[in-house]
Amino acid sequence: MRRTPIIAGNWKMHTTAESCLELCRAVRERVEDVEGVEKVVCPPFPFLIMAAEHLKGGSLKVGAQNMHWEEKGAYTGEVSTPMLRGIVDFVIIGHSERRAYFCETDETVNKKVRAALAAGLRPILCVGETEREREEVRTDEVLIRQTREALKDVELPLGFAIAYEPVWAIGTGKAASGATANEAIGLIRSQVAGPFGEEKGQSLRVLYGGSVTAENIAEFISEPEIDGALVGGACLKADSFASIIEQSARISASK
Ligand code: PEP
Repeated sequence: MRRTPIIAGNWKMHTTAESCLELCRAVRERVEDVEGVEKVVCPPFPFLIMAAEHLKGGSLKVGAQNMHWEEKGAYTGEVSTPMLRGIVDFVIIGHSERRAYFCETDETVNKKVRAALAAGLRPILCVGETEREREEVRTDEVLIRQTREALKDVELPLGFAIAYEPVWAIGTGKAASGATANEAIGLIRSQVAGPFGEEKGQSLRVLYGGSVTAENIAEFISEPEIDGALVGGACLKADSFASIIEQSARISASK
């Protein structure tokens, strides 16, 4: 099955109002006309409206980096799906930094996935093992558990997006090899195809994330199971993010 790749940039807690606009403008200028790839930028919450306004009508989509599963209530500092709807298309859920620093669990990740889909948002669900889990040969067990738990009782749409992000590769400059990522992603796909059926499994987009750069993106996109990338550091420079998008479009067209 032909799957349209997704290249998403996770800006994390970077940029100011001014530099956010400048980065949106520079990325748009370079990749507006690149076809065959879904292109997503995920700026910090305060800048989402501004980014969405700036990119309106174009081919670049906007995503949030997190959300709460309740629609409203006494949850100081949180942002709900009705607040995001109409501003963003995508939302990153269960990023390892949120799991590690903000106590997110498989259960809260599952609540977020269900709430996002119910609100018509498109989740990018993050899963991945830590360095210790890999050393202890527990990678498969972790990926199976995180995928299954996150998708419990979920009405899975065709083309759902998961990002395989080995924690040891995030922000370290030590990317996984294409072969390692391809194998892990094959396992994730099988965990979706099992309960949800072959069509949903084959339409699932699984991105690789972890120290992706313009220099190594080709190694990932060339792999048969890999359907794009979630990019951190390298998305903060328009040149490198644009090059990642351009190469992905070119390589995936010939896959
Ligand atoms: C991320 O945070 O999702 C990520 C992949 O970061 P980096 O590309 O910087 O490793």
